[in-house]
Amino acid sequence: MEPETAKYTKELEKLLTGSDNILLISHINPDGDAIGSQLAFYHYLKSRGRTAEMITPNNLQEFLLWMEGAELINVFIKNRQRCIELIRNSDLIIMLDFNQTNRLGEAEKYVMESKARKVVIDHHLNPDHFADLLISDPSVCSTSELLYVLIRKMNNGPFNSRPFAEALYIGIITDTGNFDHGNYTGDTLRITAELLDTGIDKDKIQNLIYNNFSADRMRLMGYSLNEKMVILPEFSTAYISLSKSDLERYNYVKGDTEGFVNLPLSISGIVFSVLFIEKDGFVKLSFRSKGSFPSNKFARKFFYGGGHLNASGGEYPDTLEKTITYFIKVLVENFRDLEKGGEE
Ligand code: 5GP
Ligand code: MN
Repeated sequence: MEPETAKYTKELEKLLTGSDNILLISHINPDGDAIGSQLAFYHYLKSRGRTAEMITPNNLQEFLLWMEGAELINVFIKNRQRCIELIRNSDLIIMLDFNQTNRLGEAEKYVMESKARKVVIDHHLNPDHFADLLISDPSVCSTSELLYVLIRKMNNGPFNSRPFAEALYIGIITDTGNFDHGNYTGDTLRITAELLDTGIDKDKIQNLIYNNFSADRMRLMGYSLNEKMVILPEFSTAYISLSKSDLERYNYVKGDTEGFVNLPLSISGIVFSVLFIEKDGFVKLSFRSKGSFPSNKFARKFFYGGGHLNASGGEYPDTLEKTITYFIKVLVENFRDLEKGGEE
C-alpha cells in the first residue's frame, strides 16, 4: 500500500484533528490483533494528549485482560446503555481489524445509525464500503502491522511507550501464530525488531499469551487430537468436531479451543483443516489451509463465511452430525477444483 499511505495518513490526520470525541471499536470475539490494534491506537492518541473511548461487541478473552488499557474497554453486551451513549456521543468512530458491519455484533445498528465519521483500518480481503475512510491492506499480516506503518508515517508515534509497543507486538504475534502462518514478511520482522528494541518483555508476553492455559484446556486438546480428529487422506484434509457435551466434559470456557484448528496442519500431507464447534442451533466452523488452497472461498461458498486465504471461518444452521455430512459432501465434490488454487 506504500504509494497510497501518504493519502491515507493525511486524511486520517485531518479526521483526528477535526474530531472531539473519538471512539475505537474492534470486532466481535476480539482476538490479539483486534485488541492489540485498538489499545495501540488508544496509547498513540494518549501520547498526543488526546483521549478516546473504547468498545468491543463482546467480552475479551482471559489471556488479553492483563494488557494495559484493557480495563478501559467497554463491552457492549455487558453495558449496553453506556456503549450506546458512547456511540451517540462520538464524532469519529475508528473500526479496527474488520471490514463487514456484522462483525460489530449487537453494536452494529447503533454504529451504523451514528452520524459520526467512520474509519476502517483492516487487513481482511474484500472489504465492504461502509466507512468514510477505508484503510485496507490485505497484504499485511495484521492490523497492528498496518497501524504501525500508518503511525510511523503520521508523526512517528510513541514508539518508546511500552504499552503501545506491547500492544502492536501482541497483534503481530497472535495473527501470525508466533510467525508460523499468515502474511508475515520481511517488513513484519523489521517492525517486530523495532518493537522489541523498545525493551518490551517478550518472555513475559509469551507466558501471558501462550503459556497461560488451564489443565482442562490441555486435556480437551489431547482428547480432540486423540479421539475427535478425522483424517481424509484422499482429500489431504483433517477435521475435528466438538459437541456441546465434549466441551462440557472439559469445563470449557471461551477461548479454550483457540488454535486447535491449526494442529492438523502439522500432519504431513494435510493441506486443509477444519474445526466444528456445536452451538445452539448452528455449528461454527474454522478453516485453515496451507499453500494455495483457498479456505476462504470454501467458507464463503458453502458456509456463509469468509476470511483470509489460509484462515477463515463460517457457520451452518444445522446439527453437528448433519453439518459434517454436508461438509464431506461439498468437500468431495469441490476439492479437486479448489486445490488448483483460487482467485483469492
Ligand atoms: P477463526 O477461525 O480464528 O475464528 O477465524 C479466522 C478468520 O476467519 C478470522 O480472522 C475472520 O477473518 C474469518 N472468519 C471467522 N469466522 C467468520 C465468519 O463467520 N464469517 C466471515 N466472513 N469470516 C469469518
Ligand atoms: Mn487481524
